[in-house]
Amino acid sequence: MLTDRLYYHDSYLYDFDASVVEAFDSNGRPAIVLDRTAFYPTSGGQVHDLGVLTADGQQIAITEVVDDEDGRVLHFASKPLTVGTQVHGAVDAARRRDHVQQHSGQHVLSAAFIRLFNMPTVSFHMGEESCTIDLETAGTSAAQAEKAELLANEVISEDRPVGIRFVPLEEARQLGLRKLPPKQTGDLRLIDILDFDLMACGGTHVRATGQIGSILLRKIEKVKQGVRVEFVCGLRAVNTARRDYTTLTEAAALYCSHIYDVPEQVRKSLAEAKAAGKSQHKLLKELAELSAERLLSQAAGSPQVITEFFPDREAVFIKLLAQKLTAGKSSVIALLASGAGQPTLVFAQSPGQKSNMGQLMKDAMAQLGGRGGGSADMAQGGLSAGSIEMEKLKSLLHETARKL
Ligand SMILES: [Zn+2]
Repeated sequence: MLTDRLYYHDSYLYDFDASVVEAFDSNGRPAIVLDRTAFYPTSGGQVHDLGVLTADGQQIAITEVVDDEDGRVLHFASKPLTVGTQVHGAVDAARRRDHVQQHSGQHVLSAAFIRLFNMPTVSFHMGEESCTIDLETAGTSAAQAEKAELLANEVISEDRPVGIRFVPLEEARQLGLRKLPPKQTGDLRLIDILDFDLMACGGTHVRATGQIGSILLRKIEKVKQGVRVEFVCGLRAVNTARRDYTTLTEAAALYCSHIYDVPEQVRKSLAEAKAAGKSQHKLLKELAELSAERLLSQAAGSPQVITEFFPDREAVFIKLLAQKLTAGKSSVIALLASGAGQPTLVFAQSPGQKSNMGQLMKDAMAQLGGRGGGSADMAQGGLSAGSIEMEKLKSLLHETARKL
């Protein structure tokens, strides 16, 4: 039996009486078909309603509503009901109003992209936070998106009436619809935004465009089938703008600046950080050079073996030091470890000596449970932060030195 869809005629009908005509178990979930319903089932990009059925003083939650292929609307319920039961339905009005705003806003926005740039909408998705349309086009510029947003908001502020009418398919063909549905039996349900858009659609819509409130475009991104435009309408637009403002205000407070100056402040900070990084690296190089001189002057024998652990230095320093110690020298072996950040080992020797740093590093890592390797002259290994005691690292360096 076909369900009489009350929402087809009135999107603002939240309460209704009906009787249960079918009741069955669908994979462990009680499913109910009513003779008439105001509950909207997921279809055409719009998400289903939620709400409550009351029967014999008991409340039953509706958790999902599905449009089955036979023209029935299936209500998934928290408890089973029996055929013949009289129910009173109450749709979650706030959720419905939100969906009506998003969905109607989509009609206006899609029509704006067609009118301005001849970019047809190929699909619509309504998410929990935002909605998207996919436009069939090679690209959409930020300026085009802004123009479409402006036109859509003008149409909203004009408060144009939105009519619903049912016409036979043949008649619909003559009317110049934005898009004809692929397959259709019976009359088409048309949504007519006065002198702006005519579209076949089974969803719930505003009575006049002013009820959409506003449209705010968000991210524009390239996707396989064209360009995806993210947007929010009505109260969602207000909530999104509020969140954006709070975020910007927080960032501006960190810089003690006005919100509009945040990008400039961030650019400045990034440039400063980059310059500071460069100057720090220069100092580190100088420090490595001085440390190399000191260590070499203290190391006797041939080859000169330097075993040194730096608990407060990071990997970058011991890598620089290893280079300074071995490059241009004839017989130096450096076994170095750093303790700050991720504990790291660097083994290096002046080129062409008989020891194999790569092999020594592999042995060391096998013992410590880290990962590493390298060439005969230079090898590096790393351990996860906090995974090893510093004393163990130090004794491993001495143990490795004894193997040379
Ligand atoms: Zn629609």
